Amino acid sequence: MTVINEKTKTNTPPSALSENKEKLVEVKNVKKYFPVKGGILRRTVGHVKAVDDVSFNIYKGETLGVVGESGSGKSTLGRMILRLIDPTEGQIIFDEKDISTASQRKVRSSRKDMQMIFQDPYGSLNPRMSVGELIEEPMLLHEKISKDERKKRVVELLETVGLGGEARFKYPHEFSGGQRQRIGIARALSTKPKFIIGDEPVSALDVSVQSQVLNLMSQLQKEFNLTYLFIAHDLSVVKHISDRVAVMYLGRIAEIAPKRSLYKEPLHPYTKALISAVPEPDVTKKREKIKLEGDMPSPSNPPTGCPFHTRCPEAHDRCKAERPELTDMGDEHYVACHLYTEEDGTVKRPLH
Ligand code: ADP
Ligand code: MG
Repeated sequence: MTVINEKTKTNTPPSALSENKEKLVEVKNVKKYFPVKGGILRRTVGHVKAVDDVSFNIYKGETLGVVGESGSGKSTLGRMILRLIDPTEGQIIFDEKDISTASQRKVRSSRKDMQMIFQDPYGSLNPRMSVGELIEEPMLLHEKISKDERKKRVVELLETVGLGGEARFKYPHEFSGGQRQRIGIARALSTKPKFIIGDEPVSALDVSVQSQVLNLMSQLQKEFNLTYLFIAHDLSVVKHISDRVAVMYLGRIAEIAPKRSLYKEPLHPYTKALISAVPEPDVTKKREKIKLEGDMPSPSNPPTGCPFHTRCPEAHDRCKAERPELTDMGDEHYVACHLYTEEDGTVKRPLH
């Protein structure tokens, strides 16, 4: 790629997104290292660096898509944001409250505002509970409302997700995969949350059903003014639903940008490879597929320097030695790649 050098970082004006929108979630230098036990004494012999120094914001009303191969730390990141697990280091601010250090009791009061939709609704829905009980359960945990109110809300929610109120008398096994995911969505909505994390919510569904569930989620977002973190393992799923997209690799963010600029002008070689795998409907625009060599290294023993250098077609000496930091390329496009900075940190800009 041709690049021009710039002596100094240009002061690009903050884009409309960061200027006008309020932050709902702030993730600051968050890490999660899981201890690895070994030997007969079960001592800690190392760590799985599942999330390794990640920072970003989520703005009110937007959908941030997060993509990356299996094992790149997406679910761990989501679970930390909901404080289902504690971060090893770093801060997570939700709606101006620091939930990374707050007691579990304090977190409980925020929890009704944040919910999760899981990949496998069957695994996450207790098969012995009726659909009505399943949707009611989060309300019972978080809110003091009468039985009649609860029933009314269950019926409303089932209608909202397109299943109809009568579905409350049935059990999860009586529904198809897509319908079960609708039950999962109704359950997540039952506490009237502000923020929902979808952890690969359509990955287990047939492609035709995927788009129905994605459309439903988009409609609900508008209707209830929701903010989404939407996790997926490939870029085609998040393309329509996301406003911005973050690409993760081995526990770190490789690139984060508004959707349009990420898909049109990916900068990180890893993002370029992922985008080349997205099916292009227009045959005249057929892209060359970039095939990545080898597998993702183990997060318990990540490569030195840039975590992607072992598979990167553009890796050079600096990539083995120095870890690239996320760098502002302007217009809210950030990339962590040495192709875009001089050794002294000066930003190089791609030339179009
Ligand atoms: P993704 O959702 O992107 O597939 P995960 O967040 O599930 O990735 O996992 C990231 C890494 O952390 C993986 O190597 C996984 O094996 C490891 N990991 C996840 N949860 C635990 C845990 N509770 N204990 C130990 N290692 C874990
Ligand atoms: Mg996962």
